[in-house]
Amino acid sequence: MMDVILVMNAGSSSIKFALYPADSDTRMALVQGKIAGIGSAPDFIISKSGEYHLHEDELESIEASATHAELTIRLLDWIQAHTAGFSLRAVGHRVVHGGRSFAAPVVIDPDIMNELETLVSLAPLHQPNNLAVCQAIARRHPGLPQVACFDTSFHRTQPRLSQLFALPRAMTDAGIIRYGFHGLSYEYIASILPEIAGSVAEQRVIVAHLGNGSSMCAMKNRQSVASTMGFTALEGLMMGRRCGTLDAGVVLHMMEQMGMNSQEVTDLLYRQSGLLGVSGISNDMHVLEGSSDPHAREAVNLYCHRAATQLASLVCTIDGLDALVFTAGIGENSALVRRKICEKLSWLGVSLDGDDNEANATQISDDASSVRVHVIPTDEEAVIVKAVREAID
Ligand code: AMP
Repeated sequence: MMDVILVMNAGSSSIKFALYPADSDTRMALVQGKIAGIGSAPDFIISKSGEYHLHEDELESIEASATHAELTIRLLDWIQAHTAGFSLRAVGHRVVHGGRSFAAPVVIDPDIMNELETLVSLAPLHQPNNLAVCQAIARRHPGLPQVACFDTSFHRTQPRLSQLFALPRAMTDAGIIRYGFHGLSYEYIASILPEIAGSVAEQRVIVAHLGNGSSMCAMKNRQSVASTMGFTALEGLMMGRRCGTLDAGVVLHMMEQMGMNSQEVTDLLYRQSGLLGVSGISNDMHVLEGSSDPHAREAVNLYCHRAATQLASLVCTIDGLDALVFTAGIGENSALVRRKICEKLSWLGVSLDGDDNEANATQISDDASSVRVHVIPTDEEAVIVKAVREAID
């Protein structure tokens, strides 16, 4: 029997999962997969099963209305049926919001669960799914250690000014501050950067996590100094479906003059905006890059324009820039987006090698560039499994 750790990463419409050996420090998963399309047309996909010949058949006919909790139970059944040689030792979860108090991973007990429930109002679209998955596992396997790893924790090193809104103090005291997200991705990049960039890793670095959700983080000594996402995962860069930073007066106008209610505004800003809203075609950067439609081109150009201008504002928080890292689906794969962003940063001394950029090479800056530019695949699951191993050690 091999002791294994299950890593669960529950998003709004998907659950990514992976199994890792418990008694090893490998970052390589034994089995990896995803349940996508939750709430509409759930689909079970195994992206990696190593030497284990796993079959997806039993999970093929998932009812459309299945919840995150129900799908978690189906997944546990499936793991049990197909991995006779595995014994589940612990579970690690990506949890979106750790509020102000959780600056590190924590083993979940009933008191911690109650505290995490109080943070649901800060991330209503994501936190309930994260907690529903933890609770479903606790019901099936009472006593199994479960560790919560927070997307906000990495940013708790930020100076106070990076975390404040210019709102009355009572609002700040009530927790309306800039928390920052994508922390597990930034933590992974920070952990691996010395292997790739040497001592530059400790200097002034901006990491651009460009995926369906997009944000940037400015770091010094591999610690977060500022980020583009704030109170919610809506602030900052333009994203697949989210608008990013928006004059709050637009929200007031929509509600007071256009008669939209909060649900309609939420749907517009979180699901109908960004690349999808501007292009009118797709939230998918790869699709837009392949389109000759002028609205698709404008969406890509706006994405890059806003990324470059917000990157420039982060440069102020770390007094300059020594390295820029691109990561996540767009950052790792789109030479066009990287080129367009970097062209707007030439005044900072950023200069790319065109061939290396096209090849998604690990280093894409040329010799003349005064800023090192890297492409590094992110691995949030590796951060979670490391935290679980430390917690159960
Ligand atoms: P993520 O949320 O990190 O999975 O990233 C998803 C985004 O990455 C989507 O917008 C994809 O279109 C984009 N993406 C993935 N591969 C490519 C590619 N080869 N070129 C452009 N965009 C890509």
